[in-house]
Amino acid sequence: MTHSSRPKTILVTGGAGFIGSTFVTQCIDRGCNVVVLDALTYAGHRENVDKRATFVHGNIIDRVMVLKLLLEHKVEAIVNFAAESHVDNSIAGPKPFIDTNITGTFQLLKAAREYWNTLPKLEKSAFRFVQISTDEVYGSLGPTGKFNESSPMRPNSPYSASKAAGDHLARAWHETYGLPVIVTHCTNNYGPRQHPEKLIPNMIRCALAGKPLPVYGDGKNVRDWLHVEDHCEGVWLALTKGRPGEVYDFGGDSEVENIVLVKMICELLDKKRPKKIPSPTGGGLGWGQSSSESNHPVQSKNAPLPASPLRGEEICSYAKQISFVTDRPGHDRRYAIDDSKAQIELEFTRRYELKQGLEATVDWYLENEEWCNLVMEKK
Ligand code: NAD
Repeated sequence: MTHSSRPKTILVTGGAGFIGSTFVTQCIDRGCNVVVLDALTYAGHRENVDKRATFVHGNIIDRVMVLKLLLEHKVEAIVNFAAESHVDNSIAGPKPFIDTNITGTFQLLKAAREYWNTLPKLEKSAFRFVQISTDEVYGSLGPTGKFNESSPMRPNSPYSASKAAGDHLARAWHETYGLPVIVTHCTNNYGPRQHPEKLIPNMIRCALAGKPLPVYGDGKNVRDWLHVEDHCEGVWLALTKGRPGEVYDFGGDSEVENIVLVKMICELLDKKRPKKIPSPTGGGLGWGQSSSESNHPVQSKNAPLPASPLRGEEICSYAKQISFVTDRPGHDRRYAIDDSKAQIELEFTRRYELKQGLEATVDWYLENEEWCNLVMEKK
């Protein structure tokens, strides 16, 4: 592998999770050999992993095993997605976050360096270690401005603090030992196979189950949403075109208040899987019985046809299930990323608009309820 060229064999840690599994498929589609190392925590699933990848069940904290893997497969790059990734879990129990996101990253860096030291000169300079991280390391923004690569780290949750620590270690391994490390930060990802504990799939699941849709605080916290495929394209660009020692940030250019996002999800579900409730007057109309039905559901090509409401039933918006709950402690108000460095230096672009990406995501969850049930059984 030379600079700006693609690695033949990549070790993807955390490749059985949401973002890692998308990255694995993209790399294989590009002709790379991929070795996935994943501990299969509650968030990792063997079924998520592309069948063309080599799968190894193991923990990044196991340095000796990682070193063996690197030597055996002659790995040319490591992309580290392995992490404990849910803020709420980090508040309830920070220990696994310290173990994986800090100690795990440390052991992985140690194994990478030991292996890297065995490589001939050319391969040594072509080797890459990409540390995947989050914009949450920068803390919270006020109503204006955006974070970029020069923003100071001010993590507020145990999750973001553990990720920031991992990023610092990765940086130090470059500065101190010369390991060719690249760090990336990105905004909130969304798309297929995201664990149902996360906001978008959780809202879809709760809506369909007739449960309250829990929105923290006043719902006005702002998040910037990036489709997982666009994020993974960015990671590929960082891996193949990025400069060692550099940080690249990726944003979605799609800032939206949580409450607005939840309402968007409800509208999509109203259209694709209308909710029928008994009519209080007992006189509801079935679909097509009135020509003035302005909210007649439009079917997406993928969504199942809704059954018509019967006489005595009416359609009720899922938005009625929205329920404001006590705010998360230390809840960051707003995140946003200025990714002009990635756009200029890596030629990073996005394919997905939030509206279109969200609709495709809702379709995916409607078509994969079994996957959600399976994944939730493990939690
Ligand atoms: P995820 O929770 O869906 O997947 C994490 C994967 O890592 C799982 O497959 C899990 O089994 C594996 N894992 C956990 N601990 C491990 C260990 N010690 N050894 C080996 N494997 C282990 O997470 P995700 O949403 O795909 O996030 C991936 C990365 O991207 C994380 O580093 C996260 O901090 C970062 N990130 C995520 C988002 C987001 O919106 N999801 C945004 C920014 C950054």
